[in-house]
Amino acid sequence: MPPSHPYKDIPIANDAPFELKPSPEKGWGCFAKTNIAEGSEIYIEEPLLVVPRTSYKAAEAVVQAAANKLGDRDLRIFSWLRKNGDATKKYTYYRDALSDSYFEIKQSKAPSHLYVVHSRFNHSCVPNMQVTHNNVQLKSYAFRDIMAGEEITFSYREMLYKTSAQRREELQEEKIFVRDCRACVPGNPFQEQSDSRRRLLRGLKFLRTGEDPEERENSPDRYPIIFDAQLKQDIANKRVAIYLEFICMLLSACLSEKEGFLGYYKTIGTVEERLSEFVDTLGTANHKEIARHVLSQETWWKKFCEACKLYGRVDANDDSQIPWPHWGDILPVILRTWTP
Ligand SMILES: [Zn+2]
Repeated sequence: MPPSHPYKDIPIANDAPFELKPSPEKGWGCFAKTNIAEGSEIYIEEPLLVVPRTSYKAAEAVVQAAANKLGDRDLRIFSWLRKNGDATKKYTYYRDALSDSYFEIKQSKAPSHLYVVHSRFNHSCVPNMQVTHNNVQLKSYAFRDIMAGEEITFSYREMLYKTSAQRREELQEEKIFVRDCRACVPGNPFQEQSDSRRRLLRGLKFLRTGEDPEERENSPDRYPIIFDAQLKQDIANKRVAIYLEFICMLLSACLSEKEGFLGYYKTIGTVEERLSEFVDTLGTANHKEIARHVLSQETWWKKFCEACKLYGRVDANDDSQIPWPHWGDILPVILRTWTP
């Protein structure tokens, strides 16, 4: 590594808990300088450049025009961006520098925002960082404990509900290559179970919300998850037993924990809040008692096991019109994915 690598000069706040350095087979990446606790903030960043969305053909002139309005310092920073971190591979076109470092922070037609530092974090399907935004400011935090020296990564796309084959397809389209990912590299036990866990997580999400996060309008049956058409219809119409959401959330927490996504899952679903709200919606006193007992259990697996005692019950407040889905269809999948 030449000491004069342009990335060495990228300004990163002194108190940032990470440093930029070469990452094996991935160009450059960001590595924790200290232990970072779950929930801690990792970095806050404003965009260096904001460029109106346009056609690929017109993009070069548009990005150049935007870059030329930058002050000297920011233009210099822009010029330090390198293909995959390789000091010798400068971008020939401005638009390519932008396309490797931008974030879509609003709808797809909104302008592209280039973030110099956040774009240096590599992708992982089993990440440890979540990136959020407040207007155009990006803010990232650790969703699990990160050890000093560990690479800090985030998932470039929403991938919690995708199998490795689906992820590969999507990442290849974007020319993102993942070589050392334990959820993707075949032949290890984590990977084999990971696909089942994510498929089940997707099914559970559908069972509790009526929405399939991976259903595609043009090919809805390409990766089917629920095969029973009547059950699918009933769930989409939210006519299932009220305990179902409770049990599905707990099982999803168990699976997310195994998958290394628990902190992320807790955030997207505000799970703890939703679970205690659930207790209040019950109408049968005995059921409330069981549900409180469930929530007092120490681990997510114990909570789930206790919650199964509610399986098949009809609560006084339950006006669902159909019976419970056949747990028997789901259990074999759970057993394959779970090693307590
Ligand atoms: Zn992967």
